Amino acid sequence: MNVSQSAAGAAARGPGRAPADQVAVRRANLVRVLGEVRSAGPLSRATVARHTGLTRATVSSLVTELIERGLLRETDFQQDGTVGRPGRRLEIDGRAVAALGLEINSRYLAAWSTDLAGRTLSERRVVHDATREGAERTIRALAAIAAELLGEARAAGVHTAGIGVAVPGPVDAADGSVRAAPNLGWRDVPVARLLRELLGLADEVAVVVDNEANLAALAERGHAGSRAADLVYVTGETGIGAGIVADGGLLRGAGGFSGELGHLQVDPAGERCACGRIGCLETKVGLTAAIRTAAPDLAADGAAGAVTRDPQELAGELLRRAAEGDPRALGGLDEIGRWLGIGLAIPVNLLNPEVIVLGGYFATVAPYLLPAAMRELRERAVAGDPAVSRVTGSALGFTAAVRGAAGVIVEEVFADPARA
Ligand SMILES: [Zn+2]
Repeated sequence: MNVSQSAAGAAARGPGRAPADQVAVRRANLVRVLGEVRSAGPLSRATVARHTGLTRATVSSLVTELIERGLLRETDFQQDGTVGRPGRRLEIDGRAVAALGLEINSRYLAAWSTDLAGRTLSERRVVHDATREGAERTIRALAAIAAELLGEARAAGVHTAGIGVAVPGPVDAADGSVRAAPNLGWRDVPVARLLRELLGLADEVAVVVDNEANLAALAERGHAGSRAADLVYVTGETGIGAGIVADGGLLRGAGGFSGELGHLQVDPAGERCACGRIGCLETKVGLTAAIRTAAPDLAADGAAGAVTRDPQELAGELLRRAAEGDPRALGGLDEIGRWLGIGLAIPVNLLNPEVIVLGGYFATVAPYLLPAAMRELRERAVAGDPAVSRVTGSALGFTAAVRGAAGVIVEEVFADPARA
């Protein structure tokens, strides 16, 4: 962060600056102190001063503010290193500040709130057919769930710093509106503005809307043990999309519309996709295709049955059948796995990711998809075996997007402690 470094340098050079400048310098220094404790804590004030190059007096004043904002706390008396008397050290608190993540899926609505220390405060998940209900009713239903969780946080004395929203389609980051979500049948829906109005949010409460695959990719990357700098997350629901982390950051593209893996053509003689094109990957490996191929009776009891049932429930049913050795399920999942391998060869050859994380129903039935997928992938990796990514089912399953949505707000608070 060049901004905070240069601002801190200005602080070290001393007084005589305009007040607005001083506010910016103090804010940058708050971020530095908080970041230092977050990455290396618990730490004594003296160690924070040494690591940041700030004076002890400055650190003390910043720490006092961060404690007041509920972001830091002092541990009990502990030995700091080998010399000197025992002292109190600083660690991340975060119990008083929450972030709320929401998700609009074509078949369900979900919410998850966390405090800044990563503890789950509340969770919700309701079956909801966003395609049939339309944008306005869906956002009203989502706002009602959000209002409940915001109320619960308030009652517990926790301040919610912001709301992240995951949607299954490309998003205009500038105004938080959904551009075109084929599986919802939505175009140009101002999700952020509508939520703000319905919830009567104050200006300082952030509302961030992003594509579910991007948010899930961030959640997977933040998840213990998978801090890969090059990672691709592939959603496995009715819709198929990819969130791409390259060189440690999200790869959004010029307009934020990257990652439409599900709508790349893999079969020119294939079926028409929800997006209107022919033979998209989604028509081969989306949940609808999986049910039709591996458990057609679940789709047969009415197209409506397959459309409105919770994908998590359908994934569980697929897994149960495969585990029981149902030949239709096993053969179907092998076929889906083959197409999945054909699809995954695209990011493997284009981006050479270290790891590909499979989300949604892919994660549930991964053991039955991966043998065929990996066979196909090895065949198609142009640079051979060394180029074949590790492919793994998500440990976060159907909660990856909603956790990523909350995680974006958590990062915003760490980047601007005044939000707390
Ligand atoms: Zn398509």
